[in-house]
Amino acid sequence: MNKELDLIKIENWKLGFQYPLLIAGPCSVETPEQLDLTVGELVKQGITIIRGGVWKPRTRPNSFEGVGSIALPWIREVKEKYGVKFIIEVASPYHVEEALASGMDCIWIGARSTANPFTVQDIADSLKGIDIPVLIKNPINPDLALWIGAIERMAKAGITRIGAIHRGFSNFNDTKYRNTPTWQIPIELKSLFPDLPLICDPSHICGNRHLIQHIAQKALDLNFDGLIVESHIHPDKAWSDAAQQLTPEDLGKLYKKLKTRKVALEDPQLLSQLEEIREQIDEADREILEMLSRRMSLVEKIGEYKKLNNVAILQMERWNTVFKTRPEWAKALNLNEGFAKELFKLIHNESLKKQTDIMES
Ligand code: PEP
Ligand code: MN
Repeated sequence: MNKELDLIKIENWKLGFQYPLLIAGPCSVETPEQLDLTVGELVKQGITIIRGGVWKPRTRPNSFEGVGSIALPWIREVKEKYGVKFIIEVASPYHVEEALASGMDCIWIGARSTANPFTVQDIADSLKGIDIPVLIKNPINPDLALWIGAIERMAKAGITRIGAIHRGFSNFNDTKYRNTPTWQIPIELKSLFPDLPLICDPSHICGNRHLIQHIAQKALDLNFDGLIVESHIHPDKAWSDAAQQLTPEDLGKLYKKLKTRKVALEDPQLLSQLEEIREQIDEADREILEMLSRRMSLVEKIGEYKKLNNVAILQMERWNTVFKTRPEWAKALNLNEGFAKELFKLIHNESLKKQTDIMES
């Protein structure tokens, strides 16, 4: 996997940087009035980068699919009137051409497009030699490689201002979120590409305006670089994603409540305290591994014994007891029961593997 992407840090993107980077605007551009009123109010809340969907990817036909290119002159108008930057979604070379011709400052690739390498490659080809920032949403399915693939395709086309938008992953279970956050995926992406800016889209994760504050704060706590949030002058009358849009005023309140956690890590006292706690964590991790090693030696011992006495490896009763007691013990130790369950599933798999090796040896 090529990790050597030539990326420009977000501070130098020339979009007007502040931490956190805030992008807001309607799910869809609907009418000139809706756009003008929404942008005017967002500007009052200090927002300088506006989002708006022109072509809307909808799961099923016969729902509103965006007003299309007629929105582009309306966008130019608000850009001039309010001096804001504007970002729209593109899903084909035609959209790219239209977006560039109407002077968009930035484009994003939607979750459904990221999931399709043919589409991503078509967009990348149409961007060759063009200097525009591109934000890439995660694919709808929790597949990190697809997300990375889209980022690499843009980088190969010569785009140097690339950012990733985390908008959650479609879920099959009933959860309170429209799209499950599965935070470990964007975190892994960031660990592979430390210079890649991460922007959270709490609107599409939540699907419901009441949950947005919490997810936006969580993103900042996890060191995300910014947020992209849907806002509409009359959210309940929005033509798409009505339940998750906020009025510009509510959005302003939400932003004011956010706590930013980016402290100057140059402070020597803070650094030395962090260092000290980290050393203790390292020590605790080593102890965990020593314990696991001890456990696996016992597993080998019991494996040999089972082989010698012709006993089957998997004794369901025993494992039912293990899966029942360990979460209980964990709870008594103030640990999360679900976490203990997951951990023992992993330990169980490894134990079975070890014993199978012994049986086959
Ligand atoms: C959107 O941002 O309006 C949108 C359609 O998002 P996604 O591609 O994440 O579904
Ligand atoms: Mn939307």
